[in-house]
Amino acid sequence: MYRLLLITALLVVLYFLLRQAVRGLRNKDVGDRGTSLDQDQMVEDPVCHTFVPRRNAVIETVSGQTHCFCSKQCAAAFQNRQAG
Ligand SMILES: [Zn+2]
Repeated sequence: MYRLLLITALLVVLYFLLRQAVRGLRNKDVGDRGTSLDQDQMVEDPVCHTFVPRRNAVIETVSGQTHCFCSKQCAAAFQNRQAG
């Protein structure tokens, strides 16, 4: 009886480990390809702190760092702030 419980517990642990491994592999895949999942990610505008989906965001690289903005106005404001 105890052996059965032990085997069940081991199977559950194995199941979770496998699931995590699969998830890890999938995440790696997404990272490598930069798929549409990334496009749905909400990003924060550092100027007005509005959250926008990455696909709608204005993406600018300012002094080597990539920032996402809700609009071109915010991107310009951020660049001005960095400059001055
Ligand atoms: Zn904004």
